[in-house]
Amino acid sequence: MSEPPALTVLDHPLIQHKLALLRAKETAVADFRRIAREISLLMCYEVTRGLPLETVQIETPLEPMEARMISGKKLCFVSILRAGNGILEGMLDAVPSARVGHIGLYRDPRTLQPVEYYLKLPDDIGERLVIVVDPMLATGHSAAAAVARLKQAGATQIRFVCLIAVPEGLRTLTEAHPDVPVFTCAVDRCLDDHGYIRPGLGDAGDRLFGTK
Ligand code: URA
Repeated sequence: MSEPPALTVLDHPLIQHKLALLRAKETAVADFRRIAREISLLMCYEVTRGLPLETVQIETPLEPMEARMISGKKLCFVSILRAGNGILEGMLDAVPSARVGHIGLYRDPRTLQPVEYYLKLPDDIGERLVIVVDPMLATGHSAAAAVARLKQAGATQIRFVCLIAVPEGLRTLTEAHPDVPVFTCAVDRCLDDHGYIRPGLGDAGDRLFGTK
């Protein structure tokens, strides 16, 4: 499998158009959810671009032929709860047979460190290409902690996919895990004092689930 670069910014016009719709504050919950799903399906095409193919013998209704199918490692998507679920759906639209893991982390108000509150992963995660999804790569602390936990569970080949990153989050994640390529639709200006990405799109979880 060809290895992607450390950072890939997905600048396909359809992706950029849909990202602008997601960012716009007027976009209502139902539309936000639908567009997040559409954009993640498109992202999945790019993230899986280098997967190896093998030649297999099949028969069309007319004659035998050699066709190409994905070989080797199969996929596991891991959603960082809860906003990751908003882009998990589109990934599964593209690869319905993929396995799915979930990881939940919260920030301890005393130590400010991420604490795991939920983890469910497929047993064979070590044999799969693991694609971690979380819409916003903000401080990068949750992303780095989630990746560390997946490595501890046996994952050896991991990619990280988000809608929007900031330089601070990219630095934290790639310093902790230089072996994990990151795919994003945009690298925004900065984090503000409340930990929001600017210009960003607001709180991805709230916009996906209508909780504010
Ligand atoms: N998480 C979000 O949902 N939005 C941000 O801007 C930063 C983190």
